[in-house]
This record gives sequence, structure tokens and C-alpha cells, in this order.
Amino acid sequence: MIKNVSVIGAGTMGNGIAHVFAQTGYKVVLIDVAMEPLNKAWQTIEKNLDRQLAKGVITAQQKQETLQRIALETDLQKGVAEAHLVVEAATENETIKLELFKKIDAAAPQDCILATNTSSISVTKIASVTSRPAQVIGMHFMNPVPVMKLVEVINGYATSAVVTALIVALSKELGKVPALANDYPGFVANRILMPMINEAVYSLYEGVAGVEAIDTIMKLGMAHPMGPLQLADFIGLDVCLSILNVLYKGFGNPKYAPCPLLVNMVASGRLGVKTGEGFYTYSPGAKDLVVSEKFR
Ligand code: NAD
Repeated sequence: MIKNVSVIGAGTMGNGIAHVFAQTGYKVVLIDVAMEPLNKAWQTIEKNLDRQLAKGVITAQQKQETLQRIALETDLQKGVAEAHLVVEAATENETIKLELFKKIDAAAPQDCILATNTSSISVTKIASVTSRPAQVIGMHFMNPVPVMKLVEVINGYATSAVVTALIVALSKELGKVPALANDYPGFVANRILMPMINEAVYSLYEGVAGVEAIDTIMKLGMAHPMGPLQLADFIGLDVCLSILNVLYKGFGNPKYAPCPLLVNMVASGRLGVKTGEGFYTYSPGAKDLVVSEKFR
């Protein structure tokens, strides 16, 4: 029975994943390489709990109890030693994840389930570096985790049906809606989303329309809450590029080749919201979307 959950990586996704598990009643160890990201994650969790408190979604006592269930840890071995489930949400880099899973496999109890929140890296490949591929699965939460309902549950080639059923039930218990996918490049979410974003960047690159027109057409025409260029800025242009490269390499099909404009923007350090500039510019406290000077 799952009671103790270790979340690895305390960035954008890790803090949200720790938040929802702790709020549901699980004991959580949040692990990162240093105290700085852990402290930042703690502040974000507190801020998001305060927002839920202000909306009347939780009580002050529930906020306190949720925080009390979360421990911060920089020692990976210690952090996973008593885990029944590990959810890895470290940087989207295959080398980092393969190294991490070797270490997690060596330190976590033999019956512990190992889940990865990867957006695009092969779950089967990650499982292959462990001694328990049947217990490795993709648990792909969406950003922001406390708000978004979907968990894309990805079966690796060797994932056992028992483990899949358990993760599906657990996702429901967290108040999420699980949807099953098999382990092929980009799974379902990013296989469909990233070509749309890439096509939006191509439309800009080829001068079909400007940033605002592209986003307005997709927002109002297709009832999307955010245009594809704004969404790309929100996800991170480096993340979009790396997922497109996984699709391009994984299928060997030129239709997934990243647009040269996206490649250039990433090379120049314009990564979207996190660097303050992408297709739009972002300054703290600003409410209106301002198109980047490059595209005016
Ligand atoms: P992030 O860069 O915000 O955070 C990653 C964290 O992992 C950092 O704090 C980093 O210090 C930590 N880390 C790196 N190596 C580590 C190690 N060896 N041990 C422990 N911690 C380590 O990244 P993110 O956006 O939170 O993405 C995390 C994962 O979630 C990725 O696999 C990504 O593809 C996936 N994901 C991201 C989003 C999104 O919108 N950002 C959505 C769904 C899934």
C-alpha cells in the first residue's frame, strides 16, 4: 500500500506534484540537488496553498497539515529509502534521468514503484536501466499541477498491468483524470501539441501572420484558452525544442523538424516566461501581453 511518496526534482512540476500528494494525505519527501530549489519550492507550495485557502477550497488546518506532510531532502539515497512510490520530475535530459534511475533503483525498496513525469523521454529506456522494469511507469502531470486535471499514464513496454491499474487508481484519488497512452515518442499530449506549436512558429517565420494574429486565430477560432505561441512561452521554448527533437529523431520523419526560428530563439537564450522574453516579453507584475520587440 502506498503511503510514502518521494518526489525528485523541486522545480516547476516537482513542487506541484509534492503539493497534490501531501494535500491528499501522503507523506512526501521532496528531493533536489541543493537547498535553494527546495526552499523555493516550499515557498511556492505555501503561496499556492494560501491561494486555495483564500478561495475557500481548503481550511487553515488543512494548509498546515499539508505542509507538515512534506519533508525536504538533498540526499537522494536517504530520500527514497522508505518510499512506496517515487515520482521523478527532474530536468528533461535523458542522461540525467538514466543516471538518476540507476541510483533510485539501488536505493529504493524492492517493491517501490518508480514513476517518471517526463514529457517525452522513453519510459521503456528509463525502465531498462533498473532492475524492476515492470514497476516503472510514466505519470505525466500537467502544469500547473494543483489546477490541471489530466495525468497521462504511460505504459512502458515492460510495465505490468497491476502497476498501471494502481497508478490509474492513485491518479483518481488525487482528484485527477488519468488517460492511458503507450510509450512512443511524445506519447499523446506532446505528439499532438508540439507539431501545432511548431506550425505556429513556422507561420510566423514564413510571414503568414504576426504573433498576435496567430494566437488570436487559435484562441477565438478553436476555443483554445491560450494561443500556441503564448503557450510555447509558458512551457519554455527550450522544452518545446527538446520535445520536437525527440519526435524528429524517434520517428525519423521530417514533419517534426523544429522550425529554424525556434532553434534560433533558444540559442539566443529567449526561452519564454522563465527568461522574460520569447514571442512576448514578460516583466514582473505586468498584466497585458506585450509582443516581443523582435516581432513588432
Ligand atoms: P525545472 O527545470 O523547473 O525543475 C527541474 C528540477 O530538477 C530542478 O530544480 C533541478 O535542480 C532538479 N534536478 C536536476 N537534476 C537532479 C538530480 N539529479 N536530482 C534531483 N534533482 C535534480 O523542470 P520542470 O519544468 O519542473 O520539469 C521537470 C520534468 O517534468 C521534466 O521531465 C519535464 O519534461 C516534465 N514536465 C514539465 C512540464 C512543464 O510544463 N514544465 C509539464 C509536464 C512535464
